[in-house]
Amino acid sequence: MKHLNIEQKRPRIAVFDFTGCEGCELQLANKEETLGAFLDAIEVINYREVSSEKGDNYDVALIDGAITRPDEIERLKAIREKAKVLVAMGSCACFGGVTKLKNAYNLDEANREVYGDCPKETIPTMAVGDVVTVDLKLPGCPVSKDEVERVVQHLVWDLPLPTYAYPVCLQCKQRYTVCRFDMGELCLGPITRAGCNAPCPAGGLGCWGCRGPAENPNYEEFFALAKEKGFSEQEVKDRLAFFGGFEDVL
Ligand code: SF4
Ligand code: SF4
Ligand code: SF4
Repeated sequence: MKHLNIEQKRPRIAVFDFTGCEGCELQLANKEETLGAFLDAIEVINYREVSSEKGDNYDVALIDGAITRPDEIERLKAIREKAKVLVAMGSCACFGGVTKLKNAYNLDEANREVYGDCPKETIPTMAVGDVVTVDLKLPGCPVSKDEVERVVQHLVWDLPLPTYAYPVCLQCKQRYTVCRFDMGELCLGPITRAGCNAPCPAGGLGCWGCRGPAENPNYEEFFALAKEKGFSEQEVKDRLAFFGGFEDVL
């Protein structure tokens, strides 16, 4: 690809799915207004949802999904060996995501319940970073396409990577959204990392913390606020457990 007759780098990108809904991968194929430029800026080496190409000569591996089976551990390690940069894409890859909810159950019993006499091999859900070194984490359920695009811009043009240390509340207020607490609902926005542009409160739903903790979250103050608003500690903890990003405080 050439702009102003300057040859551009095109990062060789591979997308791999593990245990998840594949919504993060699908997200990369969304946002039609920039999709052409996005696909033009990269070289797709492996990305099942958009291309039948398959190869091993990738620089960047985008990992979608969590690790929940022994064979996934081996597959992930093999990808890590080939990739120069490995990105955990989405909450499943970053924290275990919703698939981590299974860790609260007895897996043998759950296996029997679901698969009867044909049990499947399964292990407690792990984040990608529990198995291999991760260079970059992009949490979100699903991942934000904007953030992935900025990673590509960083690789091609050395533009700074996006960082969101502040909580969702800040973006929520920028949208003039009425606070869900004032509507009698629980919201994890005060302790959750921004970057999503607070779509849930704007859509009438308290934040469920899919992006994990903001930098230095004030948990004590948050639990006190939730209590003052009438929510029990258990209600707050159940919500904190949902996407797996708040394990440290549970
Ligand atoms: S993070 Fe959400 S959208 Fe992405 S794979 Fe997991 S469940 Fe699906
Ligand atoms: S709705 Fe949630 S994210 Fe928005 S200001 Fe209230 S607590 Fe913060
Ligand atoms: S508002 Fe909360 S749950 Fe909704 S996308 Fe943002 S971080 Fe995720």
